[in-house]
Amino acid sequence: MAEPIPLSVPSVGKREKELLEECVNTNWVSSAGPFVDLFEETVAEYVGAQYGIATSTGTAALHVALRVSGVEKNDEVLVPALTFIAPANAVRYLDAHPVFIDAQPDHWQIDPGLVKEFLSANCEKREDGTYNRSTGRRVRALLPVHVLGHPVELDSLREVARSYNLSIIEDAAESFGAKYKGRRVGGGPGMVCLSFNGNKTVTTGGGGMLLTDREDWARKARYLTTQAKDDPLEYVHETVGYNYRLSNLQAALGCAQMERLEVHIQRKRSVAKRYQTALSDKEGLRVFKEAPWAHSTYWLSAVEVDSNEYGVNSRTLIKKMRAQNILVRPLWNPLHLNPAHAGETFVGNGVARQLNRRVVCLPSSPSLTDRQQDRVIELLLHI
Ligand SMILES: *Cc1c(COP(=O)(O)O)cnc(C)c1O
Repeated sequence: MAEPIPLSVPSVGKREKELLEECVNTNWVSSAGPFVDLFEETVAEYVGAQYGIATSTGTAALHVALRVSGVEKNDEVLVPALTFIAPANAVRYLDAHPVFIDAQPDHWQIDPGLVKEFLSANCEKREDGTYNRSTGRRVRALLPVHVLGHPVELDSLREVARSYNLSIIEDAAESFGAKYKGRRVGGGPGMVCLSFNGNKTVTTGGGGMLLTDREDWARKARYLTTQAKDDPLEYVHETVGYNYRLSNLQAALGCAQMERLEVHIQRKRSVAKRYQTALSDKEGLRVFKEAPWAHSTYWLSAVEVDSNEYGVNSRTLIKKMRAQNILVRPLWNPLHLNPAHAGETFVGNGVARQLNRRVVCLPSSPSLTDRQQDRVIELLLHI
């Protein structure tokens, strides 16, 4: 059996070990400590946000961000149909409802045209907010997800959100380091959430962060992620909080990872460029490319398969590649098709479903060698 080529794995090394050792040597291992503060500052400064609040997972950051932004039971939140399930789950944790918006066919992000269309055709503005006429529910927030390392069309989405008075919570879990029109994703008006899970560009083993420019939101988020303590000494709590803090050990890993972030992004971009060049003439394959206004981190490289032209469909291709120990995967099952979210509204024309049927995610680790990548490319060219 050929040596396995993983989809995307973290690279941790000497520096991570050094900083972890420092935690152990100083006894700072738990949810307070110098690395937590340093990690929050480093990440916030990197993206250009005022405040960073580290959390135990990216999903936890989303949960808290939704609550801070005022999402309540029976509210609706617009979420892309084509993404990992975490943002939709976070909406449901608050007994609110996701409205799934289809993907845009060129860059696979949430389609701003459909967001606008849904709001203007199906919703009405009232004094206390925007309401969905079919469900009678208040539409409270927009939760765009920058998927696969590529930014969403922020300008159009921000404009729609402003005009319908919706909060914006960006999920940048897969796109830490990406730029929209030259500016790094993570700053700006709403709240932005990151993940530092094992498969993300920066990993802390598990972890996340909520970023914002607003001091009141930052304070509220910090309060909610630490069990909502109203008196630091007397154990008084006015509301139900969460134990969502990141540990100093995890933050130490994150600090070490941040030192190599740019190198990792450069590496992922050159992996993507190499796939693009090698497969550009292959009939039936379309390698994902960034939009002209985008600087993608290419968290995962991916290829869209047209089975008529290519000769085999994506699932056969996946099977054949996995049989050679190349651990490719399909894109996510569109969220509205998951039984977990059955009954929620879907707005779209089937783009997410088509992409799910056709796209194959390719090995994209920063540690992928040229020889390994050649093995992947050879198979794709001569399947
Ligand atoms: C990974 C991911 C998250 C959060 O994941 P955690 O494992 O909870 O850190 C959220 N949204 C998207 C789109 C993701 O890919």
